[in-house]
Amino acid sequence: MVRINENFLSMEKNYLFIEIAHRIAEYKKHNPDKELIRMGIGDVTRPLAPAVVEAMKKAADEMGREETFRGYEDSGAGYDFLKNAIAQYYRQMGADVDADDIRVNDGAKSDCGNITDIFGDGNTIAVTDPAYPVYVDSNLMAGRKVTYIDANEGNGFAPLPPEGFDADIIYLCSPNNPTGSVYTAEELKKWVDAANEHRSVIIYDSAYEAFITDKDVPRSIFCIEGARTCAIEMCSLSKTAGFTGTRCGYTVIPKELTVTASDGSTVRLADIWARRQGSKFNGVSYPVQRAAEAVFTEKGQEQVRAAIEYYRENARMITASLDRLGIKYTGGKNSPYVWLRCPDDMGGWEFFDLLLNKIQVVGTPGEGFGKNGKGYFRLTSFSTHEKTAEAMKRTEKLFS
Ligand code: PLP
Repeated sequence: MVRINENFLSMEKNYLFIEIAHRIAEYKKHNPDKELIRMGIGDVTRPLAPAVVEAMKKAADEMGREETFRGYEDSGAGYDFLKNAIAQYYRQMGADVDADDIRVNDGAKSDCGNITDIFGDGNTIAVTDPAYPVYVDSNLMAGRKVTYIDANEGNGFAPLPPEGFDADIIYLCSPNNPTGSVYTAEELKKWVDAANEHRSVIIYDSAYEAFITDKDVPRSIFCIEGARTCAIEMCSLSKTAGFTGTRCGYTVIPKELTVTASDGSTVRLADIWARRQGSKFNGVSYPVQRAAEAVFTEKGQEQVRAAIEYYRENARMITASLDRLGIKYTGGKNSPYVWLRCPDDMGGWEFFDLLLNKIQVVGTPGEGFGKNGKGYFRLTSFSTHEKTAEAMKRTEKLFS
């Protein structure tokens, strides 16, 4: 008789966005004529940059000619042309990353989930709460216990290593989804020092690095001295360059990141990860890797930066409205997310239903990201200028 992985049974039944979709569908059933403004799901709306589209088309043509056709990529870790372009991008931001520390993937979510494969069951795992759900869910699916580090208004939703910190694996995300908070270089150094002291590994999610504007906020953990012996970084082109539907990201594991196995041998985590990927992942398509390469060209950077500036303008509209209403929030600066405290002590789902029913605006209840999300709400700046302006106009009218 087949047995299932019963860890799934102890998990929350509804994934956050499924519950949101369900409530929207219910509303639409009773109000078919109402247009909704979606400020919830973190998907982008600006199209791919022309330089990216051109590169993808050219690569597709190459795939259709016998002399330039490509099948499996030998290593599955990404073509050198792309890894070199990413390493150069890291160098420009002052991060210490070599091309051969990088493995290209089909987006950061897969690696954020799959990385659990290379760690043993006995590890203590810490996640800042609230958090992007995949860090918690992937560990729960593997039957591991997760401990939480509180992120709250008191620490600006950017907690530092707590007194007596001793987790083996810690997930950090800066700029943070959902709270929009960031770590400065000084704060990140505290995490790096704590991790090196305890021989822990930091899994650092930098999917929103391209939104950082403040000079003292690093765009990679590898801008911090000591990170190469304790950190794995996961990044993505989804938000940087509108690749949510194109799918490409990259994971950096430095050669210096080693652990001692139970037989006393020293093992490089990059080697174990390469072994895992070699068995379970066959690489990213050639046209997508050529498209990704184009993101890092001068023209590509100019074009993707214009899209990010577009979203920044939306974030400014959202935060200006909240300022006028006197609603507290974090994010909106260095981040596409604005994390607000629900007015009148409402819960996140209560606020969600209010906005949906009264002004047809959809956001994301903080409850979906952990216990410290209770009473908070996430708005994203990924909509259009027109819709963002309209959503905020309606919100201001509702609350003033
Ligand atoms: N990390 C964070 C914090 C995210 O918010 C997301 C997507 O929303 C991802 C990773 C995954 O991005 P992708 O799988 O599209 O690269």
